[in-house]
Amino acid sequence: MSSGHKVKIAARLRPPLPQELNDDGVRIVPNEDGLSAICVTNPRDPSQIFKFPFSSCYGSASKQEDIFERDVRPLIDVVYSGVTVTIFAYGVTSSGKTHTMQGTKAEPGVIPRVVDALFEAKAQKPQYETTITASYMEIYKDKVYDLLVARETAPKLPVRENGEGMVFVASLSTEPVASAEDFHSIFTTANKRRSVGSTRLNNASSRSHAVLTMELKMVDSQENKTLTGKINLVDLAGSENNKMTGNDRDRMAESSAINKSLSVLGQVVHALNRGDSRIPYRNSKLTRILQDALGGSSVGLLICNLAPGVKFRQDTLNTLNFAVRTK
Ligand code: ADP
Ligand code: MG
Repeated sequence: MSSGHKVKIAARLRPPLPQELNDDGVRIVPNEDGLSAICVTNPRDPSQIFKFPFSSCYGSASKQEDIFERDVRPLIDVVYSGVTVTIFAYGVTSSGKTHTMQGTKAEPGVIPRVVDALFEAKAQKPQYETTITASYMEIYKDKVYDLLVARETAPKLPVRENGEGMVFVASLSTEPVASAEDFHSIFTTANKRRSVGSTRLNNASSRSHAVLTMELKMVDSQENKTLTGKINLVDLAGSENNKMTGNDRDRMAESSAINKSLSVLGQVVHALNRGDSRIPYRNSKLTRILQDALGGSSVGLLICNLAPGVKFRQDTLNTLNFAVRTK
């Protein structure tokens, strides 16, 4: 990446919901360096303003297309050059992670746009015989579930390491994807399987990380060489301060798994961006699984989603502080 960062950090402020229309406190202002910054007023002292500059800052009027064209499309060529790319959506529940990653039919997000672009690029490279496959998993309470198979038949999948120290999820299924339409139908079915334990919590899907991986294999039969590129698209569990109250053990295990994995992710991204030689991948399931996707020549994009509402102010500051710590 141009900044020298392995993982670029971007921010996106979602538009206010009807009940947030009169809220004030999170704004985007131009920064001295020509970039933009997210500004948050201190609720206890309105004269105090916290300012967080980002090299990519998307305001509430931003379109899905803006994010895609500026920060995601350049990564498609990177994938086609045989490199692994990972895009994360980080933020509190309701900050717009799923909107950013999946979007809607009318406003498709990063995932459908990436898939379209992968197929467009494939059509432009007739010298290669390219196959595109998908895998899709959910990490819930540090356990991995395959979203491409029916829930009843989806056991917890073990995370293993091969002889070369490469970490992988054993028995995770991969499905060939013939076209963007084909992907859409696979993805829609898989998403209905999300949210383990949904009987207990109606927003259970925000308690797990969803990791979609698109892999492409390019075979150049004339030159007899094969290139493999990969893109991971991750809708992270909600980063809200998970209260450890009550005596619901399940809920506590859930919260501590989320807190741990998100804080380890922050440490890993920070270590990568600083160029450290020791990266603490091993400290959580999520980063262990993504180890090969985050190290080496891989590149990443972490989109920090923010909600403008007053009731999210502390969460907003937490997300912004997380972003600062990863740089
Ligand atoms: P999360 O996945 O972080 O919990 P969602 O993506 O579900 O959050 O967003 C919460 C609500 O806000 C949804 O109703 C969603 O449609 C809406 N929303 C989020 N971001 C945007 C946006 N950029 N433009 C319009 N609506 C948005
Ligand atoms: Mg969501």
